[in-house]
Order: sequence, then structure tokens, then C-alpha cells
Amino acid sequence: MAWNKPLPIPTEISAPFWQGLKAQEVRVQRCDQGHWLFFPRRHCPVCGSRDVQWHKVSGEGQLYSFTIARIPTLPEFTDELPQLLAVVELEEGVRMNTTILGVEPEALKIGMALRPVFDERPGEISLLRFTARDGAHPSVIKAEQSDAAPVQTPVEAAAPKRVVSCKDVDAMKALVSTEYSPWSNEYTVTQEVINAFAKLSGDDYWIHTDPEMAKAKSPFGTTIAHGSLVQVLASQLKIPMDFEVVDFNNMVNYGSDRLRFPTPVPAGCKIRARMRIKAVEQVKSGLQMTMELNIHIVGQDRPSVINDLVILYM
Ligand SMILES: [Zn+2]
Repeated sequence: MAWNKPLPIPTEISAPFWQGLKAQEVRVQRCDQGHWLFFPRRHCPVCGSRDVQWHKVSGEGQLYSFTIARIPTLPEFTDELPQLLAVVELEEGVRMNTTILGVEPEALKIGMALRPVFDERPGEISLLRFTARDGAHPSVIKAEQSDAAPVQTPVEAAAPKRVVSCKDVDAMKALVSTEYSPWSNEYTVTQEVINAFAKLSGDDYWIHTDPEMAKAKSPFGTTIAHGSLVQVLASQLKIPMDFEVVDFNNMVNYGSDRLRFPTPVPAGCKIRARMRIKAVEQVKSGLQMTMELNIHIVGQDRPSVINDLVILYM
């Protein structure tokens, strides 16, 4: 499974709520005496009526309470920091535990008007999250479809490549883009891989290699890969590129202009990469290309590695 975050498991009683979210509707139960109830139940907690029906509601409400989590509630949520954990009171009066999206932590205010965001996850589940009613955040977050089809070996499968001569400065500069390439294949960062890297590098700090201690003591609740390990695993990730640079005598890896590890990769996570050409410039000894290579945990927006690689064509 590519999605690393835990997901709700609908029960017989709660299934209509989850089916509603999948259809981009908020559905809440109401009893025959007019009491709204949430979480889903077989009977009304106010009057005891067993005649409870599901109704579509607007999903609009207000912020009843919140807290800002700056340490992830589970390691899988490290890409969402800070987590804006909230209790939202719908117009019908029921309260839901949820998270807020698209609002700066400083802008959260008790009583602020909110509207629902349907956050589709791969598979059958959509999550109900909320954003500022007058904000610009989209009402639906589409699940990535990367799980739908098995990943082909993209390099071979790709269309014929554009061939670009490194002597043609204009053509090389035309490769610069704000758009990223398609995703690479996926690769699972197992504890075995982390252990092998710990042995090779000599960095066997328990946060990487001791799952028991990490469970007890690490803010991530599990072991994490070394940032430098995830960086070198780029070699395992074949990014489909639609061009090929030719006409050079030598291609030199000049290192990196920028290397960041914004999000840890917990053991067992799948990673993938994409790239874009960030800059091309003529230098004394040849043509220098800066390629931004980003490695993400599959399904997570925030990268785990940002690497601005500098390549010199001579
Ligand atoms: Zn009732």
C-alpha cells in the first residue's frame, strides 16, 4: 500500500457517514424527535428514540475548539506539521473531531466560520476536514491515482525523447521549467535497508536502528531513515524524462547547491522522486545545469529530500 497514513474503518453503523463523504456530502443522523446526533449511533442519546435517519446537511459550521500539534500525533503525519486539530460544531449543533486546512495557525479563532473539505484517500475513504468558509482552499482534494496502475518502468515506456545538444544554449535553456517531471517508480525503505546504511556509514544512532527504543522515545514513534540514505536512494528511482542531453565529452557531477531533508521517512515507507530543470547557464568550462530533484513519501505533499544537483557538461 502506497498510502502510509492510517485510515478510518467504517462499521455497519457509521458506513452511511463514510459513503456520504465519498459522494462529497456530509450526512448526519437525526432522530424522530428532531435531535441531531454525532458520532453515528443506533439510538438518540437525548431521548432514547431508536428511530434515527441519515440526512444530508451543508457541513458548514464553526470552530468550537482547536489545538496546534507541533510534534506529529503519529509519525505518518510529519508532512502535515503543524497539525491543526479541531473540534468543529456544525450548524445542526453536533461536534466533530477533525483537522483544519488552508488556514495559518495564527489565523485560527474560536467561532470562525468553516466549510467542509472532502479529502479523498486512495481506495474507499474520504476524510472530512474543514477550512475557512471565505477562504480559497478547494472543497475537494483528489486522491492521487498512482496506485491505480502498477508502475511501468517509465524510462522504457516513455515516448521518444527530445535530443538536446549541450552546445545549443538556447535549446538547453528551454528545458528550464517550473513544472515537475512525472513520478519515478516507487521504492520501499525497509528497516533492513536502513540497517545496512547504518553499518556502512557508521551512523547507527538508535533513532534509525532500534525500533523498540524509537517506539518508546522518538517523537516519530518509529525508526526513521537517515536523510543521507534517502538522498542516495535517488539512484533507485528512475524518473521518466522526455529529453536527453548529447554532444558532450564529459559530464561532471558538481554536487549540490541546496540539500534539505524537510520530512523524515519512517521505516517501511515507500518513496518516489520527480525533478525539474531549475537553471541552465553558460560557465567558463561548459554548460552548467541545476536540476531540482525531490524525493517524497508516496502520497505526501511535502518532500523528504530537496536536492538541487549541479551538473556540468563539458
Ligand atoms: Zn432524540
